[in-house]
Amino acid sequence: MKQLYLEIFSEFSGVKGFFSTKYGACKGSPYYHEAVFEKQGLAGMQRICPEQVHKNHIQVIREKGDGPVTLPGTDGMITNVPGVLLTTVHADCLPVWFFDPEKKAIGLVHAGWRGTAAGIAPKAARLMMENYGSKAGDIYAYIGPGISKCCFETGPEVYEEFRTAWDFTSGMAKKQGEKYYIDLKGINQRQLKDAGLWPDKIGVSGHCTCCEPELFCSYRREGGTYLRMGAGLCLL
Ligand SMILES: [Zn+2]
Repeated sequence: MKQLYLEIFSEFSGVKGFFSTKYGACKGSPYYHEAVFEKQGLAGMQRICPEQVHKNHIQVIREKGDGPVTLPGTDGMITNVPGVLLTTVHADCLPVWFFDPEKKAIGLVHAGWRGTAAGIAPKAARLMMENYGSKAGDIYAYIGPGISKCCFETGPEVYEEFRTAWDFTSGMAKKQGEKYYIDLKGINQRQLKDAGLWPDKIGVSGHCTCCEPELFCSYRREGGTYLRMGAGLCLL
């Protein structure tokens, strides 16, 4: 039996989160995979699908409507409305999930290197604090699966983008000959710590989408792919 998805936040009740494997992937965007939704008990939820333009706009979802909703120019969403299924699609870029069990609020963002440079993950946490009164110390976050430092080789321009904003002495980037490697997971983790989240409430997936072909598709490894793995999060 092929594994369709990994569960995210399975230790909590009242919330369902997932990240699909390549077996639960779909072609392009938005993410509609009925088998995954059905197995998770999410088939009847309202689907929210951001366009994903590698920026840092986050939409606040204030009510549950009927049909699926597409959000232009958007890379993340927060909500406190049960039955609203936040989704994103991925083929190496990081998903970051958020859950505040006290205020019953969630968030989901798409963080590639541009979104990470634009601070989309800590922005989601801040918006949860502003909109729902979440305390930074109450918010749980989970980063990845996605491309890890082992495989995220970049040109000098990406390295420079981060170098100007980040002190890389903690190992979040390395230069090997003419090659540069960036630890996007580590940078997101530190951004969330800097936003006030407790370190032990920031989970980081050990899965690298690029070097685990048995479980994930990868834009980088495959030199482009039509398949997109889906991230989802929903309050029940
Ligand atoms: Zn890797």
